[in-house]
Amino acid sequence: MTTRNLAIQADNGQWEIECDVAVVGAGGCGMAATLASAQGGAHTVVLEKMQRPLSNTARSGGMIPAAGTRFQSAAGIDDSPHDFARDILTKNAHSADEATVLHMARTSRELVEWLVDECAVKLEVVSDFKYPGHTRFRMHAPPSRTGVELITDLRRAVQKHPNADLVEGAQGIGLVVDARGEVCGAIADQGGQEVRIKAAKVILACNGFAGNPKMVEQYCPELRGMYYFGGEGSTGEGILWGQELGAAVAFMDGYQCHSTVAIPGETLITYATVMEGGFQLNKAGERFGDETHGYSEHALEVIKQLALDAEDTGMVAARAWVMYDERVHKIALGFDDYKAACEVGLVKKADSIAGLARLAAIDASKAQTTFEHYQSCARGEAIDPFGRKDCRLLHAPFFGVKVTAALFHTQGGLNVNEHAQVLKEDKTPISNLYAGGGCAAGISGHGPGGYLSGNGLLTALGYGMLAGRHAANAVREARGK
Ligand SMILES: Cc1cc2nc3c(=O)[nH]c(=O)nc-3n(C[C@H](O)[C@H](O)[C@H](O)COP(=O)(O)OP(=O)(O)OC[C@H]3O[C@@H](n4cnc5c(N)ncnc54)[C@H](O)[C@@H]3O)c2cc1C
Repeated sequence: MTTRNLAIQADNGQWEIECDVAVVGAGGCGMAATLASAQGGAHTVVLEKMQRPLSNTARSGGMIPAAGTRFQSAAGIDDSPHDFARDILTKNAHSADEATVLHMARTSRELVEWLVDECAVKLEVVSDFKYPGHTRFRMHAPPSRTGVELITDLRRAVQKHPNADLVEGAQGIGLVVDARGEVCGAIADQGGQEVRIKAAKVILACNGFAGNPKMVEQYCPELRGMYYFGGEGSTGEGILWGQELGAAVAFMDGYQCHSTVAIPGETLITYATVMEGGFQLNKAGERFGDETHGYSEHALEVIKQLALDAEDTGMVAARAWVMYDERVHKIALGFDDYKAACEVGLVKKADSIAGLARLAAIDASKAQTTFEHYQSCARGEAIDPFGRKDCRLLHAPFFGVKVTAALFHTQGGLNVNEHAQVLKEDKTPISNLYAGGGCAAGISGHGPGGYLSGNGLLTALGYGMLAGRHAANAVREARGK
């Protein structure tokens, strides 16, 4: 999408709207920030450039990781922020900032309980499968396991709150600074009209830059041409505005991809299909890596495979099949997106892997040989050539879906402190400016492999809550003076 960008403008004394806190972007981070700020007594205006919930949060699986929640306790799950932080750091080989990781892991319990208790978000602990790298069942998700349900609940709470105003179809196009150089508002384009919003605090919640091919090329050139599956509003302007004000950025080469997006259909096929025992085959009927290492890094292996169909060329070509059995299929049916894929016929069924391979138009005899070797690994009679440790015995009938790899979101952005205040190179805050979610530096380290499932929504909703609370406190304190 095209983005108007006025970047940083001087205060000219003209304001169309006045509020305490302005939030740019109404995805997970922006909605959490708005609710926390409004609950803290601050009049909060949240701007959203799209007309419909097309954010990454809406596209997500709605899986929010949290350690030590009462929902885990009720399900008999023993977990702690320390264990959670260790899992995050193990996944990114300790390349993320350790203090930030521990802070977010410690914030996670309060975040999930706050969302349920004070924002009326419906969440339940997911205890039927673990994502790669998590040593405990700690995902908390809406019953449908969709981000649409999560964002719908958040939107409803924002619309109900008397201190919150959601303005959709209003694209943030810049920030305003006063004579001291301090942020004092934002500018939006609403239907071609420029609207200046005076605000004591501004929270940047407009996600990262995965939808901006120029920035992707600059910071993550290895992703050139990869299909982008996130919200189209993620065009990076929040990061650019922060940089123009002297903010430091970090982990700009960090991102998350996924290796099981159904093509055609453009539906996320849950990775439970793989984690519960499924495997991926290419056109030649061969496996090409340890699928369980992580769906993000495995995506870079998927993209190297040949397109499966002659008519599939370019970046949305299907390049693999994910195959599994009925037990796995039944677990996957717990996900609305998977159910939808079944309903439109994307999920195929056959009595043998060779039969499934024939339906898939991949080398059936090689597929059967590959499968038999996989079964030998599952029985402990052979060693998986890719190092997969948990090959599981699969039983007929078999199920499969044609998939490709896709970029989901970037993980680099503005450096922030524990309150989500944006920091300069010298680590001092930029006055009145906050950032969270994809707009802030993440906790996934560098490249595709450091992303532990849930790092996205944890830093979106978590920083949103922290920023909103801190901003509202500051507004209250200033009023008291
Ligand atoms: C298919 C998919 C599945 C995923 N599943 C999960 C999951 O289960 N768990 C998990 O933790 N993470 C998941 N993620 C990652 C997660 O969705 C993101 O990390 C998270 O949603 C980012 O939240 P955000 O608020 O920063 O961005 P978003 O939710 O994208 O919100 C940003 C909003 O800002 C708006 N915006 C942008 N620029 C402007 C502007 N200039 N003015 C006004 N508005 C603007 C955008 O339109 C958008 O609505 C998934 C991602 C994808 C793509």
